[in-house]
This record gives sequence, structure tokens and C-alpha cells, in this order.
Amino acid sequence: MNDPIAELVALLSRLPGIGERTAARLTYHILGSEPEYAQAFGHALIELHGRVRRCERCRNYAVEALCGICSDPRRDAGLLCVVARPPDVAALERGHGYRGQYYVLHALLSPLDGIGPEALQLGALVERVQRGAPREVIIATPLSVEGEATALYIAQELRALGVRCSRIASGLPHGGELEFSDQVTLARALEGRRDL
Ligand SMILES: [Zn+2]
Repeated sequence: MNDPIAELVALLSRLPGIGERTAARLTYHILGSEPEYAQAFGHALIELHGRVRRCERCRNYAVEALCGICSDPRRDAGLLCVVARPPDVAALERGHGYRGQYYVLHALLSPLDGIGPEALQLGALVERVQRGAPREVIIATPLSVEGEATALYIAQELRALGVRCSRIASGLPHGGELEFSDQVTLARALEGRRDL
């Protein structure tokens, strides 16, 4: 009844950027490789949801209670960068220019899609700012309509706590997605940030 080949093709086709033909090519490639490779592949997939969780402090993906950045004492606790998604942290880290800490929202405001402020779960961010009292919060959400709306909302909430908020400069390509920006552009966007 259930055909493992067809099943894997169907699963791979659901990945972004993978059409059915590519999915079939990948499936036959895996089938033609050593069985150990397919087993390691399956094991890694199971481990993803089994072992990866959200860092207790920044909410980025982590294997331990605290991620590598939050548990690194050399990071500047006075600088807090708020991003939309985990790949944004990875993009900023590739540049090696930023030495502060992070907070990952996992969401952006989108009133048209019915995504309001409650989706941002700002309670944990507010608590962290109150407790850690950073000298600056850099809001690095994408430079899209949703990203800008989110940045303004967060700045409004945090300014009430007396913390300085800044916004990354424009100039990022592809709808302002950090993930797809090169290191130089990202470094410039960080350096050119302005107060909100
Ligand atoms: Zn963390």
C-alpha cells in the first residue's frame, strides 16, 4: 500500500523551493546512497524536534536551556537586538560585528492577517529589559510593512520603560529580509541605525 519512495517524494516536495522533480531526484539519490546515510538523515530529522528547543532567555533555537550566545559571558549584555526569526540571528552572527545579545520574536504584526500584538508575546521581552536594563535595544525586524509596524509597536512599549530604542538603517534588499542580505549590507544597516 504505502510506497516509501512516493512518500518521501511527497514530503520533500513540501519544502520551500523543492518541486516534485527535485524531490524525486533527491529521493533516488538517497536510495542509491549507503543505507547509513539515510539512517543518519532520518535520525537528524527526529532529533530536530526531539532535542532542539527555545533558549530560555532569547527564544532562539537551542539544545541546552540557554543558547551559545546567551551563555557566553563575553557578549555585551548592554546591547539587545530584537529580530523576527532565528535565521536573522544567524545572518547577523555571520558578520562578526555585533557583540551584544538577542531576542527572537518568532512573529511579526500583521493586522490584515489577524496577527495582533499578543502574537509577539512581549511580556518576556519587557521583563528582560526591566531586569537587565540594557543601554540600547536595536530593533532589527525586516524593513517590510509588517517589520516596520512591529518595530514601532515594540519601541512604543519599551520606551515607556525608559530604554533607548533604535532601528536598523534601510538599504537591505529583498523586502528588507536580514537572512538574504550580505554581511557588508547588514553591517551598514546596523551601524547606520537611528533612534526610534
Ligand atoms: Zn539565547
